[in-house]
Amino acid sequence: MKFKAFLRIIIHLLGILILTILTQIGGIIYLLVLLTITKKKPKYRLKRASLFTLLYLTSTFLLIPSIAPLFGRVKIEDNDKIKAHNFVTAFCNRNYVTLKMHVVLKDVSLRINKEFPDIKLIYLDANFPFFDGFPLLPHLSHNDGKKIDISFVYAAKNGLTNLKPSVSGYGIFEAPLKNELNQTQVCKQKGFWQYDFTKYITLGSYHKDLKFSANGTKKLIAKILENTDVQKVFIEPHLKNRLNLQHSKIRFHGCRAVRHDDHIHFQI
Ligand SMILES: [Zn+2]
Repeated sequence: MKFKAFLRIIIHLLGILILTILTQIGGIIYLLVLLTITKKKPKYRLKRASLFTLLYLTSTFLLIPSIAPLFGRVKIEDNDKIKAHNFVTAFCNRNYVTLKMHVVLKDVSLRINKEFPDIKLIYLDANFPFFDGFPLLPHLSHNDGKKIDISFVYAAKNGLTNLKPSVSGYGIFEAPLKNELNQTQVCKQKGFWQYDFTKYITLGSYHKDLKFSANGTKKLIAKILENTDVQKVFIEPHLKNRLNLQHSKIRFHGCRAVRHDDHIHFQI
């Protein structure tokens, strides 16, 4: 019996930890629910699940978007020119940036839309709504509202598309060709095992027929760099060479990060 109680505490703690890592606020809401609805109440499991769902959804979609500006962050406003690749980004509160970054994103989306009227700026993980220094895992640096990941541009049979090859937006790589530098191999040989672990988080890939658009992606990066507030852009070295990108703000992120031949990272 005692062991059972111990196990239950461990499971709850794990739940709090995982929800915090995934959504920032989910863990604390879960804790609140556990404290509010004790095991003595009839049908406590159902009541806990309902209360958690209610609190989480109202916080995520109503409360936090209005509270976050007090902490210097705003929720990215999707429109016909800028959009999250996956609704999970908003569902997990991973779509917050500083006000300045929001202005930059809007500007870049207008520029890309002028170049390709049907193409939206499709973003992946940004930052959480609260606290500088709180990382949005697995991206250690996404902790201050000034970082964001952007999808490459892809082409379908009849031209450029806003679709992306994987459900999460990560993990389907535009790998190096035989004559190109294989940075993944270099980093893994140095012992950085995590360098390509995003291959496990595609969450499925329904658009494997899509082709990486070198021209579209190159133009997208050019548009990002046209905004002078942008400080750094990360992309895998072989793609930097293949796309013939020369700008001094395009850097290599280092082996401690993950490979960037499935997305672009930029920061202000
Ligand atoms: Zn990033």
